[in-house]
Amino acid sequence: MDYNAAKRPNIIFIMSDDHAAHAISCYGSKINETPNIDRIANEGVRFDQCFCTNSICTPSRASILTGTYNHVNGVKTLSDRLDGRQMTVQKLLNEDGYQTAMIGKWHLGHGGNSDPTGFDFWSVLPGQGDYNDPKFYEMGKTIQEEGYATDVITDKSIDWIDKRDKDRPFFLMCHHKAPHRPWIPDKKHAHLYEDIDIPEPETFHDDYSNRASAAAAAEMRIDRDLTKTDLKMDPPADLEGDALKSWKYQRYIKDYLRCIASVDDNVGRLLDYLDEEGLSDNTMVIYTSDQGFFLGDHGWYDKRFMYEESLKMPFVVRYPREIPAGQVSKHMVLNVDFAPVFLDYAGIPVPDSMQGVSFRPILEGGVPDGWRTSMYYRYWMHMSEHNVYAHYGVRTDQYKLIYYYADALGSAGATDEPKTPEWELFDLKKDPYEMINVYHDPDYERVVYVLKQELDRLQQEVGDQPYVCSVK
Ligand code: CA
Repeated sequence: MDYNAAKRPNIIFIMSDDHAAHAISCYGSKINETPNIDRIANEGVRFDQCFCTNSICTPSRASILTGTYNHVNGVKTLSDRLDGRQMTVQKLLNEDGYQTAMIGKWHLGHGGNSDPTGFDFWSVLPGQGDYNDPKFYEMGKTIQEEGYATDVITDKSIDWIDKRDKDRPFFLMCHHKAPHRPWIPDKKHAHLYEDIDIPEPETFHDDYSNRASAAAAAEMRIDRDLTKTDLKMDPPADLEGDALKSWKYQRYIKDYLRCIASVDDNVGRLLDYLDEEGLSDNTMVIYTSDQGFFLGDHGWYDKRFMYEESLKMPFVVRYPREIPAGQVSKHMVLNVDFAPVFLDYAGIPVPDSMQGVSFRPILEGGVPDGWRTSMYYRYWMHMSEHNVYAHYGVRTDQYKLIYYYADALGSAGATDEPKTPEWELFDLKKDPYEMINVYHDPDYERVVYVLKQELDRLQQEVGDQPYVCSVK
């Protein structure tokens, strides 16, 4: 076995929580600058069509580690835990000579079979964790750290790299808590954006007409559902209507972006460290987030929907030794593909049980024959928390077909209150913000037919079951 660090890349997987691509400047953000995350993209590849298969924290994390969809890995909702006896990317890397570590947000359960496995070292935030002076659950013990979570997670990551065995490659998962709700910035960024207004998104005043009923039913509205904990103060008494909504948006988005400023600073700190240690050339560095987020889009915060802003994950990667700089890829890649990519670069065969596919050829400027042109999505948490109806669907380059089957189907973390199923179809070329459901438009009859077949095909391919109505 070749343990030679000079031949196999080190891999640093930096993942934040709820960081939407449209709050990253290399993705064209109109609201902030992220020079350090941009640096990874400029020196490597930016993926414009990287999607999660279920836009919620815990399930996306399970898909990343196992390379499987949630109906296979068993983590369909926030109430499910990852059974660590499953095959995971870190176990395979570790067994093949990689030093492995998991530092930061885990969010896949604790105790029993849910503690991190396959890592030589792990130090994770219990549950959601705290922004300030966070406790960590480290190798089975609870410890107290001081400082701001994003800084502390980076300090611990650098410290672990420092102490590694330099004769073997390493795999580090550096998982930030930020910018997850309740969006508490570091003191040093508390006044960022204070004197400016952040632009409101195009769909800020969406009234949810021309859609299935799910959009109007969702409870994640900026004007109605943000709490005092989110806003950190009571609104001025004289504000109402659109003025009040705009005030709440500014409160929310500025704290969200301030949290991201710390993430970007710390990505820079890690990149600088790699430069100083001479590790940049043979280390693959990824920046991503577990899903996207609504940044006032459709008048919302949060995620869950198969709509673009929450479906899309930022994904930038740099590995100077083998990946040409300055690439932008429009090829569709998914969170289930990450594990196969890492194994591919480590020279380890991808087990048949993994459902994702390595996109290494795309990273190196090519395209594998028959690369996917459609993807399958499913959200199970019917009406839980933000009252989003359970749905599944298919996205192609041009279209998105969503079926709100709207039934808990006995899932933990979902509400047993079935609604009438409804369909949505969006023509993403004509309607990139998904404001007009054309499912019932006769001009799209043929598209609906073709997409339903594709949905069937994808469900069969990934081994998921179509919805069968339980109410007669
Ligand atoms: Ca998340």
